[in-house]
Amino acid sequence: MVVKKVKTILDGYYSIDLGMLVWLKPSYYGKKYMAALKSLYIETDKNRILVDTGIGDLPSQYKKYYEIDRKTTIEKELRAMSLTPDDISIVVNTHLHFDHCGNNHLFKSATHMVQERELNYALNPPERFMKGGYIREYLDGYNFKTIDGEHHLDDDVLLIQTPGHTPGHQSVIVKKENKKYIFCGDVAPLQENIKRGVIIGISIDPVALERSLDLIRNMDGVKISSHDSEDMVVEGV
Ligand SMILES: [Zn+2]
Repeated sequence: MVVKKVKTILDGYYSIDLGMLVWLKPSYYGKKYMAALKSLYIETDKNRILVDTGIGDLPSQYKKYYEIDRKTTIEKELRAMSLTPDDISIVVNTHLHFDHCGNNHLFKSATHMVQERELNYALNPPERFMKGGYIREYLDGYNFKTIDGEHHLDDDVLLIQTPGHTPGHQSVIVKKENKKYIFCGDVAPLQENIKRGVIIGISIDPVALERSLDLIRNMDGVKISSHDSEDMVVEGV
């Protein structure tokens, strides 16, 4: 299978405290950051793949906590490429926090792929501090195809386990010609996490997360951070 296109698309922005994105950096506490909601579109000669689906239309009880700017949405971004959600054959979720699977429901004809560990955890998070990240309405009604560990979607698209932010987080490596793209997910929401080697402030296991971050930092390739609003354009057509 040949990768023909790799492109970052957006489901808009939402407000998050910058201090939550970088571990223990007090000067960031209380600073509002309009975080980009990035997905990665990958086109091969057999599949149109979307990694993560943004935040979607949050249920009203969640909306009050966030400022949301969805002038750009995943649907609009696809339309601009002359695509509809039905053209997507595979959806991959790096993890099931609501800002990464909010539009899964649009992709009715796609296979939805997630790590088994992540789905099991998301459906019933035992830890109170992790419950707020998952929205049950976003998880019900799908026939998720679960995977356990490293998984080749094809020769040039590889899913790897990168746990720590959540129990079953995964990242995606795409090879296109001689270039490599790594969609980090929340292992590195900002480029700062990669440059300074500092993990995100939200984690179920900071030790595992630091290892996952190091694994990605040591790879060659273009590293796409999930929420960095300054580092935006990634396109390999
Ligand atoms: Zn997350």
